[in-house]
Amino acid sequence: MKKIPEDFFDKIDIIEIVSEKVQLKKVGNQYRGLCPFHNEKNPSFYVSPIGVYHCFGCGESGNAIKFVMKIYGYDYEEAIDYIAKKFNILLEEVEDVNYEFYKILDYVCDYYFENLRKNKDVLNYLHSRGVDDKQILKFRIGFADDKNEILKELIDKGFGIDKLFKIGIAYRDYSGNIKPFFTNRIMFPIFTTNGKNIIGFSGRSIDETEPKYKNSIDSPIFKKNQAIYGFNFAKNSIVKNKFVIIVEGFFDVIILNQFGYENTVSFMGTNISDYQAKLIKKYTDRIYLFFDKDKSGQKAIIRNLPTLLNNGLIPYILYPEEDKDPDEIALMGGLDKLIKNPYNISDYFKMIYEKAQNIEDKMEIINEFRSHLTNVKFESVGYIFLEELKPVLDELEKKIKLKFHLKDISSIHFNDEVYAIWNVYKNENLRKILFEIEEDVLYSKSAKELFRAIRNNKLNDESYLELVSKIEFHNKELSYETINKFISKWIERMMIKNLKNNKSLKDLENIIRIKRRL
Ligand SMILES: [Zn+2]
Repeated sequence: MKKIPEDFFDKIDIIEIVSEKVQLKKVGNQYRGLCPFHNEKNPSFYVSPIGVYHCFGCGESGNAIKFVMKIYGYDYEEAIDYIAKKFNILLEEVEDVNYEFYKILDYVCDYYFENLRKNKDVLNYLHSRGVDDKQILKFRIGFADDKNEILKELIDKGFGIDKLFKIGIAYRDYSGNIKPFFTNRIMFPIFTTNGKNIIGFSGRSIDETEPKYKNSIDSPIFKKNQAIYGFNFAKNSIVKNKFVIIVEGFFDVIILNQFGYENTVSFMGTNISDYQAKLIKKYTDRIYLFFDKDKSGQKAIIRNLPTLLNNGLIPYILYPEEDKDPDEIALMGGLDKLIKNPYNISDYFKMIYEKAQNIEDKMEIINEFRSHLTNVKFESVGYIFLEELKPVLDELEKKIKLKFHLKDISSIHFNDEVYAIWNVYKNENLRKILFEIEEDVLYSKSAKELFRAIRNNKLNDESYLELVSKIEFHNKELSYETINKFISKWIERMMIKNLKNNKSLKDLENIIRIKRRL
């Protein structure tokens, strides 16, 4: 770790540093230029020789170190290194109190890394997930086996066992035996933001052991809710591209890196903390959330909005048309197109609301947006999104309630048989089935009601309006299998009924023909 000497700021010249990136013109005692942090035609970016800059357009301000950090995407230490070199300042090297911890984890990481080479199955698994050797090396991915070897080596090297406990490399089991903390897991080391040291690990189990991902315990060097996976590689690329992609999993980070999106990071879990949001904010305002398309991914997106907005970040959502996870999309070559078309919050809301298949899901989306967005602070930049979204939420909720004369939407229950009838009716090839069966082979009351409306050609009648609008509102597309299951059931019951009534085989022919086709 480096310490800056006391006369550091006397020896440096902020005008010279800023001039590397901004053309400055002297105006009185100050210097003025076009702000590098926002787009402008008339200069409102001022630099003062006393060592500070300020932009009257976007409010960005700070000293030389902050300028270098922001403009080059450096962390604090890299920034003072850069400046010191420029002005020939000698930096004092001070012993880091955590030096010993870093040394242990570095040793452990090398051990895991070499161990991966010896376990071809695990290596093959990584390859099968699309991870190539270049990324394995870059991210120093390794493998923790179930042997005690690593602990023996560390103790032989003279590292104290108490230190191994403290950073979660070893633990004592119920019978007092000392055991390695990670076993039978693919190991992903987590680095400091400058990439120089490892602060912890996350291990993915290769058998069925829970949890699927196990993280290092919080320690003097690792805080789970502060660490950002991939950030050491992403920083420069975030500054260059002016946005960061946030994904759910380590594999997503690695695969997206492989496809040129080095500005991708993830967290230990799916909750973004204030600390992490503030750290990202130092490098960019623009966040692309690229989570799995399932319900839990959707919930995670909505849940994280307040933290992002309250910290001045502007979230966008990447939502592929295909039902694939981010790493699969990357492997399919679908990234570029997707990244060019991010959804803003309110478009994202409208889209998932439209796609929700039934009234319960629609109401759930409204409620979730509403409850999480109440946590957005009035003074935050993101509040403007709420002002846009809130009337939309209110309007939709009112519409739903009005349409069904309901106070509590969750009381609606609509069975699949109704949709089966509706899907069959909408399908030209299947529609005639509804004219071969009789009402009493159907199971549910509402299905019978709809069936009657279709058979009597009364779908447009006033009396069926509510039913039809309800069905159309839900617009549930059943799978082919489900529709098929219902048709088979109806026909089966129809055949039994006809046989009981001693109908001739000829009368059954039509029905049998339909059943064979299915
Ligand atoms: Zn500015």
